Amino acid sequence: MHLPEPLEHESLPDSPYAQELRRGFPDLRFAPDLEQAFQAFHSKCARSRVRFFQLAIGLLAIAAAVKLTMLDAVPLRDVALGWLGLVVPACLALALASWSRRRYERVYLPAARLLLPVIATVAAFGIADRPIAGHPDPFCFLTTLSIAVFFLGGQLFREALLVNIFMVGALGLALTHAGWPATDVVYYTTELMITSAVGAFVYQGVERQLRTSFLERGLLSEMVARDGLTGLQNRGAFDDDYARLWQQAIRDRRSLALLLIDVDHFKAYNDRYGHQAGDAALRRVARVVQRFARRPLDLAARYGGEEFLVALYDLGAEHVREIAEELRTSVQALGIEHGDSPAGTVTASIGVSIVSPRAGRSAEGAVQLADEALYAAKRGGRNSIRLVDCYGVNYSTGAFRRSA
Ligand code: GH3
Ligand code: MG
Ligand code: MG
Repeated sequence: MHLPEPLEHESLPDSPYAQELRRGFPDLRFAPDLEQAFQAFHSKCARSRVRFFQLAIGLLAIAAAVKLTMLDAVPLRDVALGWLGLVVPACLALALASWSRRRYERVYLPAARLLLPVIATVAAFGIADRPIAGHPDPFCFLTTLSIAVFFLGGQLFREALLVNIFMVGALGLALTHAGWPATDVVYYTTELMITSAVGAFVYQGVERQLRTSFLERGLLSEMVARDGLTGLQNRGAFDDDYARLWQQAIRDRRSLALLLIDVDHFKAYNDRYGHQAGDAALRRVARVVQRFARRPLDLAARYGGEEFLVALYDLGAEHVREIAEELRTSVQALGIEHGDSPAGTVTASIGVSIVSPRAGRSAEGAVQLADEALYAAKRGGRNSIRLVDCYGVNYSTGAFRRSA
């Protein structure tokens, strides 16, 4: 079977996903916006295993407390301080916080940052204080916790590494404090350090892979939304965004302007200069079109063969007319030679509709109005703009036509 190639990101120079993939994120951190999105993605992936882990740790802590008081007859005073006072409530609080999706990000993650090192420290001191004669490995709880913090705690690499460093330090301190011989202190802390190092090494690879797959998913969805020839949004993606923009304009009671741009005599251009030259010309026109959708809510798309669509949010009619006129002259100013066009260069005609979206009015109807305006611009001799301003005028629902 054919092995999948890595995603091609050179062709998307302005994509934040592609930029991070090219950079290689050696520090396991993205730019702030993307980092935030990644952490939300990571939380979603990790939450289900984290909550079971926290529940298991909580139950273990209770079992340990029961064993210490009932079977080992450790005085309740000693148990109360460490296990009953800190470890059990901390574990149960974490289990509770990780169980709900809403609380996971807001409560669990910040709480885990504080409580996991506390649990690790109390456990280290608790174990160091106990007699260990005859026990096969008194520190297996800590080595297990060390690995679990990396893979099951829901934290990212740096945080999990910090908990582990803390845990190794706490164990060294606890053993010294309890009066263990120096050789034992060195032996047991080294053992935990090696476990932590192995966990850290493997987990940073796992996080790197997760980050790569997050970026590739993002890149893939961007590629699906783009037109291959021009890099602009394609029609499918435009339709989705336009539907959302329409709803927003209804909510905010704002106007929308649609500019439908069609390259003039383009069939003749292809016939005279060839399809390759036609493609190159379309790419240059597309770059001009893109420049006119500057604000966050504006949209620019390749709508069909040599047609482009720009949506401008909340602009007055005069401003829209100026923009459309500037777009038309910018296409002409590219100076792409066209011997079969009266202008001598490649030009475009633009149909503009300005509408005030309302519930019951149709988004497609607004495009249709721009299309009719475009048709009028073509009939009027091309290389021109026509504008239909419907702002404030009553239209029947459906096709967005003026009511009788
Ligand atoms: P008008 O001024 O009335 O718009 O005339 P026109 O020739 O531009 O319009 P028409 O609809 O007759 O032809 C559109 C042409 O656009 C035909 C097609 O070959 C060309 N075209 C559409 N998509 C592409 C493309 O991706 N690459 C190239 N090179 N040409 C394309
Ligand atoms: Mg056309
Ligand atoms: Mg055309």
